[in-house]
Amino acid sequence: MAGYKVRMDASTADPEMELQQCIVCGKRPEPGQRFHVCSRCVREVSPRYCSEACLRQYVERGRHTRAMCERGRKLYVYDLRVRGNPHAVKYLLGWMSEDSFFKRQRQKQQAILREIEDYGHRTEVAVSPEVASFETDRLYCLVAMSSLSTRGHPDRQPPCDTGALLYDKSVVYPSYQLFPLTAPNPRLNSNGPPRLSPELSVLCGQRVAAVLSTTIAAFLDMAARGLPVAVYPFINCDNRTNIVVDVLFWRKILCRVPDHGNCRSVSYLFDLTPYSVVICAVSFAASRVFGKGKRPSEKLLRDEWRKEIEWEINNIKGLPETIDRICHELALQRDSQPRKLGHRKQKAALNAAVSQLKADFLEAALAYTDQYRRNVIEYIKPGLIDESLAEVTGMTEAEVQRIEAEVGKAEFMPYTKRLMAAVPPAYAPELDGPLVTLADGKQVCEADLLLSTQEFI
Ligand SMILES: [Zn+2]
Ligand SMILES: [Zn+2]
Ligand SMILES: [Zn+2]
Repeated sequence: MAGYKVRMDASTADPEMELQQCIVCGKRPEPGQRFHVCSRCVREVSPRYCSEACLRQYVERGRHTRAMCERGRKLYVYDLRVRGNPHAVKYLLGWMSEDSFFKRQRQKQQAILREIEDYGHRTEVAVSPEVASFETDRLYCLVAMSSLSTRGHPDRQPPCDTGALLYDKSVVYPSYQLFPLTAPNPRLNSNGPPRLSPELSVLCGQRVAAVLSTTIAAFLDMAARGLPVAVYPFINCDNRTNIVVDVLFWRKILCRVPDHGNCRSVSYLFDLTPYSVVICAVSFAASRVFGKGKRPSEKLLRDEWRKEIEWEINNIKGLPETIDRICHELALQRDSQPRKLGHRKQKAALNAAVSQLKADFLEAALAYTDQYRRNVIEYIKPGLIDESLAEVTGMTEAEVQRIEAEVGKAEFMPYTKRLMAAVPPAYAPELDGPLVTLADGKQVCEADLLLSTQEFI
């Protein structure tokens, strides 16, 4: 993996010892002594602190925030991917050094392979990758490994802290291997699947394939040593949400692994899981046949907004009646002078006035969508993103020009104008907290300090 220093078993003599010592000052506990853990954290995940002062220092540095206690809990207790793997969670939260984590991970992998060895029966192992940021500022690849066994697997004993899941006919380690795919970059932080350009997805995909080749080689070596292990020839990818993993299949990338037992190399194919093929097939069919949904061009068309508004009005309970009643009252008010019209003509005039008011109402609503469209167009124009408006929306240049002309005259609402003209204050104590003077004499507010110490800015 180019650009990454994975120093095998370097400085860290014993990762477990490192986890017992104070994460702030490095002090080690006396024999039989255990340092404090955070009361909000899951015990297994919390860093250890020799003193209240060290804990406070860490909290102040933004390295142990309340949100992180929560994230740790979420990951360790509920996230099926890293559940029950305290080291992976600590590493993701920045509470375990990279060297230590990798060393501990290798130790656990060896324990897992020993368990397979001890199991004695023939097993087929399979790996499958996933790419996620875990709400951190970099992308990680997580490799799940499953090992088939006889029904009920009464004689299997997965090592602890590996997050092993026991299914009816297999043992699955969802976080068998975790490694970073990218350098830190705040733009990568997301709750959902990573959003990368196709080019960067391919780059990451190739990294995933390279690491997986080494992972599979360990199993082939076991087989070469005469152990009853076979490797499933396909690597499962789930592309429901994951463009990086998707790319492995569509680019027909292979994992080529030397098989020392047979003195040749074996190829493993990436394949999509049936479930993800079904989901993609259905959403493809939906956009093909119904043509509805997310086409961005629709958001630029006045008639689409008109339909949208009419639909909403008619589907909000009581709203059509309310609009009808208010329009009637208004029409009657405006037409209070008695005129010399017959009763029927008067009624027709009233109905016409009501219709006009309703049309004005819809037009006023559409004027709002006009300013929305104008803003979207101006937003995309200055080259903030790589694509042109026509490319983003899938429209022709001529269509785009027509819409630009249509909304060029749209007036922004007074509220919107004020919003656009607003200049934020350089310092707002109520939001920024007190000012802190740094060693170089520069002043920075607490909110910014927290963000910069957390490398968000
Ligand atoms: Zn300490
Ligand atoms: Zn905590
Ligand atoms: Zn070998």
